[in-house]
Amino acid sequence: MALLVKKFGGTSVGDIKKIKNIASSICQSKEAGNEIVVVVSAMGQTTDDLNCLAESISKNPNRRELDMLLSTGEQVTIALLSMALNEYGIPAISMTGSQVGIITESIHGKARILDIKTERIQNYINQGFVVVVAGFQGTTLSYTGSMEITTLGRGGSDTSAVALSTALGAETCEIYTDVPGVLTTDPRVVPNAKLLDEISCEEMLELASVGASVLHPRAVEIARNYGIKLCVKSSESDSSGGTLLESQIQPLPLKRGSLELTKTVNSLEVLENQAVFSLSNFPDRPGIAAQIFEKLSEASINVDLIIQATNDGNKNDITFTVSELEVKKTAEQCELITRQLGGEFNLKTNMTKLSIQGAGILGRPSVSADLFDTLSQANINVRLIATSEIKVSCVIEINNIPKVIRFVAEKFKLSDTQIFVNPINEKQDQPEVRGIALDKNQVQVSFRKLPDHPGVAASICLALAENDLLFDTIVQSERSSSLKTKDISFTMNKQDREKANLVFEALTKKLPGSYIEDGPAIAKVSTVGAGMAFKVGTAGKIFRALADQNINIEMIATSEIRTSCIVLEKDCDTAVNAIHNHFELEK
Ligand code: ADP
Ligand code: ASP
Ligand code: MG
Repeated sequence: MALLVKKFGGTSVGDIKKIKNIASSICQSKEAGNEIVVVVSAMGQTTDDLNCLAESISKNPNRRELDMLLSTGEQVTIALLSMALNEYGIPAISMTGSQVGIITESIHGKARILDIKTERIQNYINQGFVVVVAGFQGTTLSYTGSMEITTLGRGGSDTSAVALSTALGAETCEIYTDVPGVLTTDPRVVPNAKLLDEISCEEMLELASVGASVLHPRAVEIARNYGIKLCVKSSESDSSGGTLLESQIQPLPLKRGSLELTKTVNSLEVLENQAVFSLSNFPDRPGIAAQIFEKLSEASINVDLIIQATNDGNKNDITFTVSELEVKKTAEQCELITRQLGGEFNLKTNMTKLSIQGAGILGRPSVSADLFDTLSQANINVRLIATSEIKVSCVIEINNIPKVIRFVAEKFKLSDTQIFVNPINEKQDQPEVRGIALDKNQVQVSFRKLPDHPGVAASICLALAENDLLFDTIVQSERSSSLKTKDISFTMNKQDREKANLVFEALTKKLPGSYIEDGPAIAKVSTVGAGMAFKVGTAGKIFRALADQNINIEMIATSEIRTSCIVLEKDCDTAVNAIHNHFELEK
């Protein structure tokens, strides 16, 4: 007898007819001899509607009260679905997060799950009940010691389902939704997006954290950490097998009390002998990035990090790193490029790339702040920064690498087995592009003319982190060395922008000469593929696809398996379609 956890999202339980249909399919699965726990979301757009109600009363509602309100959405669905199951003659019982014993941190609005008390739910399962659990919610002890309702963050029912699967030792966690599975991109943007039979947790984590709402990134993180078999399927038809997610890491033992709070950082990677090329002062118009990276690709140069900050006036800077072995070839190409396009380039060798990685970085801005703080305490000036939601990379100039490794490892409590110096990667047979995600919920902000000394990035990140402001895609541009200032650009959630004003004011006062500049309305288009790191020319192809549509790229930031381009919001759908077509993902 297999224990299955099945999760149904908002659209799938959008009306009574759908709830009845789901009850009937659960009924079949139960009659086939399975034990079943169901996790459901609020019906249709209920959570949005509840948010609107709150907003009509207060622009900044009390977080506790908001959780009280939002958690009611799921409570409606569990009761209705249980009734529907009862009508089919199936013993079923509904349970809220607190009745189950889903214990979370005491943070309202985005609590992480610490533990799930399985005794009561297991009892019902043993008695043959289908247990219907409200997703997205948990319970916590307040500072007075009394129980409080918490929510996990938008999209959090996926996380409830995978966490329950972990705690109950379920055989499979099935996420039923309104699409056939994980597709190459959002079918609302690209109608011929293709269903993926499988995807690695690493790739899904990147896609989910940059806008692929089909799975909550924290659900992917839990599945990866604990080796949960996770599949995404259509709630409408059973004809396709959906998408299977595979974890490539050794599963962790479940630690009671810190289910979702495994280490924030899982590994430290150091790559020595890197060269940083900075091309500056060339015109800011569509097609420049494509021309540059196509040239490099024609010369078989494998580019690692790419960073393009917002343009300064109508000029642009692009910085990228290559292995030192490729310096001569790359310099020759840069000569040609600057002769053709104008601008200049400079080159620094003997650089080191240091990256920390871990799904626990997600949603915790304090982690990048901690890294930059550690480096600045060691008096190391960070030359380049590129962050993704699960990885922070920086390029630094150091002679004493072992000392820096020791510092960072101590800070994040990493053991020797979690430290990789000049690793050789083995995932070379993976596709260069697996999927594309689109995030329209971002704004772009730049700090201009910052003093160039150790600790500047750290102080900005710390200030944002202390005020609970999430930031993404931080990009620090490398200016021509004559300028003793630097720019740091980043993207942040739209709804946080106003709240950030006070923090920005304080920071610009502390960093003389600097000022804040808001970018135009933008969207982030992220291309993800595990094979990207090994394939020469992927970035060039992405930039070409955009250039051919005359789309200007406002900002570029990469990690090993992801290239994110910030484009104007009006261009974003065209951008996703262009990249999708260019890599023929529909095939
Ligand atoms: P649910 O209510 O079932 O949790 P969501 O709306 O949260 O559903 O997520 C499903 C939606 O995610 C789809 O309708 C689709 O528009 C969107 N989506 C974005 N990216 C992808 C992708 N790569 N594959 C499938 N769906 C995607
Ligand atoms: N109902 C919540 C939301 O809309 C949780 C979820 O559906 O996963 O965000
Ligand atoms: Mg969802």
